[in-house]
Amino acid sequence: MRAVTIAPRAPGSLRLDDIPAPRRAADQLLVQAMAVGVCGTDRELIEGHYGEAPPGEKRLVLGHESLGRVLEAPPGGEFSAGDLMVGIVRHPDPVPCGNCAVGEWDMCRNGRYTERGIKQAHGFCSEVFCVENSMAVKVEKGLGLAAVLLEPASVLAKAWEHIERIGKRARWEPRRALVTGAGPVGLLAALMGAQRGLEVHVQDHNETGPKPSLVRELGAKYFSRRTQGGYDVVMECTGVPEIIKYVLGFQDPNLIVCLTGLSPAPSEVKLDVAPWNQAMVLGNQVVFGTVNANRRHYEQAAQALARADKGWLERLITRKIRLGDKWEQAYEKVRGDVKTVILLED
Ligand SMILES: [Zn+2]
Repeated sequence: MRAVTIAPRAPGSLRLDDIPAPRRAADQLLVQAMAVGVCGTDRELIEGHYGEAPPGEKRLVLGHESLGRVLEAPPGGEFSAGDLMVGIVRHPDPVPCGNCAVGEWDMCRNGRYTERGIKQAHGFCSEVFCVENSMAVKVEKGLGLAAVLLEPASVLAKAWEHIERIGKRARWEPRRALVTGAGPVGLLAALMGAQRGLEVHVQDHNETGPKPSLVRELGAKYFSRRTQGGYDVVMECTGVPEIIKYVLGFQDPNLIVCLTGLSPAPSEVKLDVAPWNQAMVLGNQVVFGTVNANRRHYEQAAQALARADKGWLERLITRKIRLGDKWEQAYEKVRGDVKTVILLED
């Protein structure tokens, strides 16, 4: 069967491979892949910045944003043939640490977790894949192809959950949120902010393309200029050092800044710690980072996608590429693109 693979840490090793079809273990689902979303992590894997093949193997199947149709399932379980599912990316470490032991593998303490399509476990960009019953999330058939957004949405569901937990350290009545960056992560962050009844502002350098209208359709404001703050929550979704420095300069009391984007290293941007410390201490501010998601967050994300306008979600998928000629284009960065999806079914 066809699969997109790399030799981890070897730039230029991306190829469309022919690999043996997997065999289902007793506790696993056998799944027909329908679609796989592409994100910056895939490009960084292809460029050789990180990534690890499964133990004893040289190549890694890519793909962590999945959507599949169940072909076979363990009898008596939650799934049956024909159900649509999304695979959970991170799996608990083998020790397991205290967090992995209770299903909070997104907060793993020893770093020995595995991740499908990233770290020591094959991803979902093969025509057929297997996944443990406990590591699959059922999705509504009505969502269609938009269900491929569940994995990135789970990361934002976790971010919002943690923002609210931090907010509840005191009286919590947030009104305004700023989202920096209108890529898929920023747009899903804005969707969930709007669903919470917040006045959402989205800042992005693009002034054309689909992003401004996608933001406005949420009832949110879109702009490219910088502001002076005035927020309860900032969701930083670019990872750009200059933008991080800008949002860390906000003086708003009780501000919660959530960092979701990874900065490309190294950077020349300098931060004067003294004024930042003064705003943090005197304003009870919190800055925190977040990555990944556990099952609870996938379920929260599934609810958020089900409540969203289906047409809006579908418009986030700006390119669909089949695993045929020119399939490599799926991994190219295209101006104005929001989410590229690889289609694995004919
Ligand atoms: Zn762990």
